[in-house]
Amino acid sequence: MAGKFFSQLKCRECGRTYPPKAIHVCEFDFGPLEADYDYHAIASVLNRKVIESRANSMWRYRELLPIEGEPTVGRQVGFTPLVKADRLAKAIGVKSCYVKNDTVNHPTLSFKDRVVAVALSRAKELGFKVVACASTGNLANSVAANAASVGLESWVLIPADLEANKVLNSIVYGANVVGIEGAYDAVNRLCSEIAGKYGWGFVNVNLRPYYAEGSKTFGYEIMEQLGWRIPRHTVVCMASGSLLTKIHKAYGEFTKLGLVGQAAFSIHGAQATGCNPITAARKGGTDLIRPVPHPKTIAKSLAIGTPADGYYAVKSMVATRGWSEDVTDEEIVEGIRLLAETEGIFAETAGGVTVACARKLVETGKIPKDEEVVLCVTGHGLKTVEALTGHLSPPAKIRPSLRDFDALLSSGLAKVHAKA
Ligand SMILES: *Cc1c(COP(=O)(O)O)cnc(C)c1O
Ligand SMILES: [Zn+2]
Repeated sequence: MAGKFFSQLKCRECGRTYPPKAIHVCEFDFGPLEADYDYHAIASVLNRKVIESRANSMWRYRELLPIEGEPTVGRQVGFTPLVKADRLAKAIGVKSCYVKNDTVNHPTLSFKDRVVAVALSRAKELGFKVVACASTGNLANSVAANAASVGLESWVLIPADLEANKVLNSIVYGANVVGIEGAYDAVNRLCSEIAGKYGWGFVNVNLRPYYAEGSKTFGYEIMEQLGWRIPRHTVVCMASGSLLTKIHKAYGEFTKLGLVGQAAFSIHGAQATGCNPITAARKGGTDLIRPVPHPKTIAKSLAIGTPADGYYAVKSMVATRGWSEDVTDEEIVEGIRLLAETEGIFAETAGGVTVACARKLVETGKIPKDEEVVLCVTGHGLKTVEALTGHLSPPAKIRPSLRDFDALLSSGLAKVHAKA
């Protein structure tokens, strides 16, 4: 059974193959290594019925994930709701809109639980006793929680200026949390050095080929939940750009396996204007990523100035005729509020980026008004409450008396005028 569907890594550039160890770059051309599958073997066992008969988690697509045995970490992650968002569709002026809602992903309320479930399951197979990560916040939360759940020691390295709730939500699990005085890129460089010296399993460095594949389940679920088909448009917020490329890969794999029919689709990127290296490349008609040395945005989870998969994200967008947008902090807050007020979903800043960019893409005709779009909403709003400081009016305050309440109603301050 072990390794029947997945047995090696393969260089994305030259195609050389490598054993499935904790390695992530090709020795010949420094291309990224990617999990390689036997799709023929997978097609012989995997069909819609088999998938539908399985538990509601990301592991229902288990043959398409790069572990050898059964999953041992994060077995309940995934299968989050795909919400038909009619009120949001109307607000942004598009015919049909869905929200893939990973604000309620188990256990740490962001899509990062998907990548960590795979990375840590693989880390255990490879015999690691210590796992670690370089993170903009959500990955730290997820590594800390999932490592705790199986008794693995964990170290998470984060920029020192992260949101308070993201820091707290790593410490509470007993992880070793280290704040680095510097932006994410500096954190990431340090992690490569630590991985080399101490031999730890860094989920997004030496375990990256396994980690990255977890993102495909976000795309698999979208297709299954739409009734086994690929949506015409998908809008994805980007940090390193990995999630976008893996949704593209997921759509391609399901097509190849005959799980969905051949269909035209476009995948669009979304970033904050204060850190938009991938969007800038797409708009500039190049796949050359110009680093952003000093990211400045409230969307800290997306603030990666040197995006590892930026080049491939641009290629995915170009190949699918997708565009890319970016939005200001003001527009991000508007996006968060719009999603909350129309659909009752509270997203973190990254979700605000997706919604605001989607609105722009519709306004500019990149997504035609009479078509359909899926918005990838990747993390919960309670993680980034600072972003809303000063933007929401505080609740009205009255004494516990009906007269006070009557006065409040007639003052016109209440938003909706309730009928007596
Ligand atoms: C990490 C993250 C992303 C995007 O990650 P990629 O590096 O582009 O795969 C999107 N949203 C949230 C909330 C994240 O934490
Ligand atoms: Zn190579």
